[in-house]
Amino acid sequence: MRKTVQLAPGLFIGGDHFVVMAGPCAVETQELLLAAALAVAAAGAVVLRGGAFKPRTSPKSFQGLGEAGLLLLEEASARTGLPVVTEVMDPRDVDLVSKHAAMLQVGSRNMQNFALLREVGRQSKPVLLKRGAAATLDELLHAADYILQEGNENVVLCERGVRGFDPSTRYVLDLAAVPALRQRTGLPIIVDPSHGTGDASLVPAMAKAAVAAGADGLLIEVHAAPELALCDGKQALRPAEFLQLMAELRRLVPLCGKRWARSLATSQTASSAAEPSGGAIPRSSTIGASDGRASDGRASDNRAFDNEVIAP
Ligand code: PEP
Ligand code: MN
Repeated sequence: MRKTVQLAPGLFIGGDHFVVMAGPCAVETQELLLAAALAVAAAGAVVLRGGAFKPRTSPKSFQGLGEAGLLLLEEASARTGLPVVTEVMDPRDVDLVSKHAAMLQVGSRNMQNFALLREVGRQSKPVLLKRGAAATLDELLHAADYILQEGNENVVLCERGVRGFDPSTRYVLDLAAVPALRQRTGLPIIVDPSHGTGDASLVPAMAKAAVAAGADGLLIEVHAAPELALCDGKQALRPAEFLQLMAELRRLVPLCGKRWARSLATSQTASSAAEPSGGAIPRSSTIGASDGRASDGRASDNRAFDNEVIAP
C-alpha cells in the first residue's frame, strides 16, 4: 500500500503527488536565505530546504548557525508560505528543531544513529530519512523501521548517492534504488541529485532521470549566489537554472504519472527573486571567494568530495 505523508495543510507527498523541495545547503545569512527562498517558491518548489545544523567532515568547516538559523528559516517560511525541512543531528535538538520546522531531516551520516532515529520517531513531524553513503537498501529500510516503531508513520526516504570509486562525481546516484525500494515499501521515495552528483551541471539531467525512475519528489540545492556559499556551492543551482529545470519538470512529471502536489506558482515573481538584492551580486563576484574557484565562481575544490570550505 502506497503511503501518503502530509507535509503541511493541503500538501502531500506519496501516491501520485510530486513534490520539489529546494533551497540552500546551509542557512548562511538572512539575505541569501530569503533570496533563495523567494526564488524557489516563485519557480514552483513547495518545500524550502536549508541546514541550520550542518554535518561537516571537518570540525573547522562552517557548522551552521544553529538556533539562529532555525529562526531565519521560520522567517523565510512565513515570507514564502513554504514549509521547511531542516536537518537535526543530535537527539537533544529534536524538540527544538521540531518547534521551528515542518519536517525533520536525518542526514546520510546519521542514518544509523539509532538514538536519533528513535527520538524523531517519538515526535509527530514528518521525517526525511536520507540513505547512508555506504548503506544497503535493507539498512535504509531498517533505519526507517526505528522511526516507524516509535509511532511516527510519516517517513519519506531519500536516495542521495552512495560512495563509488570515481571522483568524476561526488557520489554514485543509485536511481535503481527508486523502483527497488518501491517493491519493498509503501513509503514515499525522493531523490537528491545535488549531493548525488556534487556538480550543478549534472543536477538537471539526474533530476529528470529520477522522475522517470518513479521518484515522488526531488531535493535540490539552490543558492542565490553559489560563489558565496559556505557549503556545497559547486552543486547548487542558481535561481535561473532552477527555474529552467522546473519548466522542464513541469512537462515531464505528468508524463510519468504524477501530478504536482500544489499548482506551480506563476513565474511572475521569479525574475525579481532570481538574484539577491535584485541581482546586486554579479555572476563573476569574488566576494568571499578564495583560491580553487571554477570559472563560474563555484568552489571547484572538491576536496575529499565534501565540497567544504575549510576555515583558516
Ligand atoms: C543535506 O541534505 O544537507 C545533506 C547534508 O545531505 P546528506 O546527508 O545526504 O549528505
Ligand atoms: Mn549540501
